Amino acid sequence: MKQLVVLSGKGGAGKTSLTASFADLSAAGPTKASMVIADADVDASNLALVLDPHPVQRTDFWGGQIARVDRETCLGCGACQAVCRFDAIQIQDGISRIGPIACEGCAACMYTCPQDAITMHMQVVGQWYHSETRYGPLIHAHLKPAQENSGKLVSQVKKQAQDLAEENLPAWVLVDGPPGIGCPVISALSGADLALVVAEPGLSGVHDMRRALETVAHFGIPAAVCINKSDLYPEGCAEIKRYCQDHDLDLLGTIPFDETITAAMSRGKPVTSYQSDAPSSQAIRRIWKSMWLVPKQVLLELLG
Ligand code: SF4
Ligand code: SF4
Repeated sequence: MKQLVVLSGKGGAGKTSLTASFADLSAAGPTKASMVIADADVDASNLALVLDPHPVQRTDFWGGQIARVDRETCLGCGACQAVCRFDAIQIQDGISRIGPIACEGCAACMYTCPQDAITMHMQVVGQWYHSETRYGPLIHAHLKPAQENSGKLVSQVKKQAQDLAEENLPAWVLVDGPPGIGCPVISALSGADLALVVAEPGLSGVHDMRRALETVAHFGIPAAVCINKSDLYPEGCAEIKRYCQDHDLDLLGTIPFDETITAAMSRGKPVTSYQSDAPSSQAIRRIWKSMWLVPKQVLLELLG
């Protein structure tokens, strides 16, 4: 079982459009029967908007704890309010009241309360889904607003996708990873065989790409690069190309700025499916093909 993770150093670089198109291209090729798609960008899970999923299973995701007050026991002394570093507690009408969004679950108030009036409770912070799409099974998730367990939820999404792929060996997992370099990205990279970093030639393009590549390299995972909106800022594009050359990185291709991508997204389709001869579709198809030729031959193994 192999895993390809699509990443970017920041949001909005186009990795979800690219992942959706890869799913579409895979569905038309020899890997269709064995591909599982995972949306590991749980804070902005947009892949489902493009792949038109039909959920077959929905499961609650239990995250961190939250404090609750027993109103019958609380004396309103304010000791809990004094120790809460997150300003989650107010004393109103002589009773402690805890704001569920502000509460970080540190339990300091529970240990402080002289009345043992506070208890900690696990809470449902989101859901994960197993859905069917015309491109293959999709594991995706929804995290409730202001919840901070996205790393754990990404791990759950990855595990479900891997388990599903293991049931259908030989199989591989296509992952739409989170942007940035934080905890969810590290979870998304776990077990990956290849990371494709989508770079954008903006003013901070090289910087964003380098941060993502350094994170990938830290875990010893082979990486390749593609450039989106490559014609918008030629100097930035040239700089990214130079960086790849200097660091012996595979640059798999460039995608021109193309309004067809936005039009396809707004109609809930991968651009390669929406308009297969659009300039962006042709470029993505070339990148998809060249992926099978990366020196590590990671994905090539899948074709036996
Ligand atoms: S410390 Fe306990 S008794 Fe005092 S206000 Fe808080 S919950 Fe109520
Ligand atoms: S658990 Fe921590 S964050 Fe939540 S109300 Fe108690 S002290 Fe504040």
